[in-house]
Amino acid sequence: MSMKQYEFWFVVGSQFLYGPEVLETVARRAAEMADWMNQSGKLPCKVVYKVTAKTQQEIADVVREANYQPVCAGIITWCHTFSPSKMWINGFVDLQKPYCHFATQYNREIPNEEIDMDFMNLNQAAHGDREHGFIAARLRMPRKVIAGYWQDEKVLRQLGDWMRAAVGVAFSRQLKVMRFGDNMREVAVTEGDKVEVQAKLGWQVNTWPVGTLVETMNAVTDVEIDELMNLYRASYDFATDDLETVRYQAREEIAMKKMLDKEGCMAFSNTFQDLYGMKQLPGLASQHLMALGYGYGGEGDWKVAAMTAILKAMSEGQTGGTAFMEDYTYHLVEGQEYSLGAHMLEVCPSVAAEKPRIEVHPLGIGDREPPARLVFEGHAGKAIVVSLIDMGGRLRLICQDIECVKPIMDMPNLPVARVMWRAMPDLTTGLTCWITAGGAHHTVLSYDVTAEQMRDWARMMDIEFVHITKDTTVEGLEHDLFLSDLAWKLK
Ligand code: MN
Repeated sequence: MSMKQYEFWFVVGSQFLYGPEVLETVARRAAEMADWMNQSGKLPCKVVYKVTAKTQQEIADVVREANYQPVCAGIITWCHTFSPSKMWINGFVDLQKPYCHFATQYNREIPNEEIDMDFMNLNQAAHGDREHGFIAARLRMPRKVIAGYWQDEKVLRQLGDWMRAAVGVAFSRQLKVMRFGDNMREVAVTEGDKVEVQAKLGWQVNTWPVGTLVETMNAVTDVEIDELMNLYRASYDFATDDLETVRYQAREEIAMKKMLDKEGCMAFSNTFQDLYGMKQLPGLASQHLMALGYGYGGEGDWKVAAMTAILKAMSEGQTGGTAFMEDYTYHLVEGQEYSLGAHMLEVCPSVAAEKPRIEVHPLGIGDREPPARLVFEGHAGKAIVVSLIDMGGRLRLICQDIECVKPIMDMPNLPVARVMWRAMPDLTTGLTCWITAGGAHHTVLSYDVTAEQMRDWARMMDIEFVHITKDTTVEGLEHDLFLSDLAWKLK
């Protein structure tokens, strides 16, 4: 399902105390608020007003329906008044969808002349929200609290960002990952417990033979390759005359896409150590599949493949870009400390500053023919890098704020796509923190998804979240990790 197809159900908390007229007014206002927010164009998904709930049964019913309907990606509650919270307990205990407590009220202002007890009865969120907040705290519910006036830009942005994170949850819970070959031999950080990941995050991670991919490649027709070559020509500059090599990448892409689509997989991994029967490591092929929204991980890294797909799903329709990335090398000149990110081949062109070039160069590792790949520079701007690691018994999501820059040198002999950035709080402190937390060399780099969205996603998924920011210190992080380790062992 695409972003626009998802709905968030707007559930109003109330009670019978103030009579039917108040309830009718509130129901009308809630529908009006939902319409207005939808028409604002600021939200990625639709808000659907469902019910003004006065009883435990109404709440249990709407929760049951929300759990059941795939189109519902979460519920948003608003308490215009005091909605006694014991009637919410049974529904909340059963809720399986993301939940946002929207602390707002219909009126922006307190009307000096008109305010009377009728006005007060309609606008009692100030204490209704506290009763509502208590029960979610008491039940230890994963939730997002958004407070402010429902027409304010900042509030709508927060709500929209949370919706995208919740869509990331829905996407994750049905994500299938196709592995071609195993993880790179002896590598630890790309490993993980696939059973735990499926139980926690929903991912189905399975393997398919490289031989089946080769058979599928052999069945690809020249007409299919011609069509994809036309698409490459429309999207990229050809900086090579070796069209046969580019056509071979097209053949690989078409075959991989056929297998992914047949199984409903939105992410895949492969490894240069298992390309039996293939002439080239997929480069351009994997890059273009990522541009289409598929997640990818190199060297069998199915965790980063899945995370790339999830961040792409969360940022659908946004234009900053999201890519599989690897920390490659450093520039350690004082005052100019930068990381250079790249990969053997496979960086997604969605992050490119200019039109990518198709080039053909030999590959330093492996024993295959020189592959075609897209070469470009990443653009400048604020971004995050994200790494999911398996700590044994739990998953930890590490997120670092970064500032991407136009690469400070041309690097004319570097035959791969590259992105240069300044890690927060600075290269060496940020690096110390990253290593202390156990973050991988593979990451997802995104200009669109924010750290707050990843925090929301991790909370909804009930996994550990570590954020390295401009204010992070090594001492502070070590302290947090120590406490977090204790807490997660108790959970
Ligand atoms: Mn790698």
